[in-house]
Amino acid sequence: MGKIKIEGLTKHYVNRRHKRRDPGDENGYGKIINVFKDIDLEFEDGEMVCILGPSGCGKSTMLRIIAGFDSATSGTVVIDGETVVGPSPDHVFVFQQNGLLPWMTVWQNVELGLRNIKNEALRNETIQEYIDMVELSGFEHYFPSQLSGGMQRRAELGRALAVNPDILYMDEPFTGLDYLTHLKIREEVINMHTFLGKTMVMVTHFIDDALIMADRIIVFNESPAKVILHKKLEYSRPRNIEKDPGLSDLRDEVFMMLGVSYVA
Ligand code: ADP
Ligand code: MG
Repeated sequence: MGKIKIEGLTKHYVNRRHKRRDPGDENGYGKIINVFKDIDLEFEDGEMVCILGPSGCGKSTMLRIIAGFDSATSGTVVIDGETVVGPSPDHVFVFQQNGLLPWMTVWQNVELGLRNIKNEALRNETIQEYIDMVELSGFEHYFPSQLSGGMQRRAELGRALAVNPDILYMDEPFTGLDYLTHLKIREEVINMHTFLGKTMVMVTHFIDDALIMADRIIVFNESPAKVILHKKLEYSRPRNIEKDPGLSDLRDEVFMMLGVSYVA
């Protein structure tokens, strides 16, 4: 049985500002925006799942519903045999925007999720271990505003992983990073996935990231979003898109699906 099972998932929003007589507003309550309809998906335990799709197609909405932060209009998400009705402390979400608390240092931010470790020495050891893992040793007592964007992202990933979550959700975790930092953090996430074996679900608009990282990729189209590609990637790691003909063909295919027919 799958770890995460999504059945008949449907989400619509009602845009109440829509004018009464406008098309699409038959009842006068507002225009219904169908984000997605009847989505069925299943992810295995320990998988890195990457979700791609055009901007505004509903990726973040889908991730928030899977994580229990938002509710579906209909359909269910079942994780480990239990229907999701709200966020779980065993599952951690790395948001698209910076999620560090600005009035707390890196150390305090990482400590946040570890309050259940009552033994202080053990707690401190765990905090240090994850700060080292994301290469922020020496910056423990810096506040987020004193760090670069990449360092903030690393701190956030360290904090998320320190909780030792059963599932890690990430919404565009590399957006806004410079190219090299992006590649380095990507490498760290891949290593964490390889060594810690966590189930990870990541939304991204970087096609190459999905091809390099994913055990499974899902591509959505828009309005209302449908799954236009659902594929298990069994290419060996470390992956190199240019050197693996299967991966480069898949890359072309995904670019085409997302409306780009020529990629240099
Ligand atoms: P993505 O992450 O793929 O860019 P989102 O999930 O953020 O897309 O949004 C999907 C669609 O749902 C968009 O059309 C957006 O305008 C709409 N939407 C998202 N959140 C709300 C909301 N709270 N109220 C109304 N519409 C929303
Ligand atoms: Mg989004």
